[in-house]
Amino acid sequence: MLQDKRSNLANLFVGAENQLIPLTNYGVKTMSMGYLVPPSQAVVWRGLMVQKALQQLLHEVDWGGLDVLVLDLPPGTGDTQLTITQQIELDGAVIVSTPQDLALRDAVKGITMFRKVDVALLGMVQNMSVFVCPGCGERTHIFGREGARREAEASGIELLGDVPLDVRICDDADRGRPTVVAEPGSERAKAFMEIARKVGEKIGL
Ligand SMILES: [Zn+2]
Repeated sequence: MLQDKRSNLANLFVGAENQLIPLTNYGVKTMSMGYLVPPSQAVVWRGLMVQKALQQLLHEVDWGGLDVLVLDLPPGTGDTQLTITQQIELDGAVIVSTPQDLALRDAVKGITMFRKVDVALLGMVQNMSVFVCPGCGERTHIFGREGARREAEASGIELLGDVPLDVRICDDADRGRPTVVAEPGSERAKAFMEIARKVGEKIGL
């Protein structure tokens, strides 16, 4: 169903000013490489193609005025990340990592890169920090317990919050209902809201 929808999107995208029209849900506008590439194709563009796609995502989308623009970047410190820091003025960066050592190494590289290019570090989010078994409620720290918290402390940045590994976050997303809408009173929704509140405060929203 989702795939059918996506393959038709190309026709819907371009507005009057020849700009891409973002998709909107619950007042949140989104634009993604995933919308521009057929679902069965992987994005393996390099160099100029990446630059061109970034140019389009950053400058040729009809956002129509926003409170905040969040850029979800892949881990790493390559062309994509550097181009973004060069092309637009960022209020800051939020580093998201699981508590696992391997993931934390990428996180540290990200922290170093943002410091080098003078982008403020708003804080760190510890993702998938605890798995609560839907059957018995037992809590398991699959990727380790407090790795991201320790790294945030070592790097001198604030830990903004913990997002649990919860199958319902995935289910909610698949149904097109973000977890903060699907069950606003839940522990997992509160985790997202608290992180958003802290980031909002830091960037003066
Ligand atoms: Zn269990």
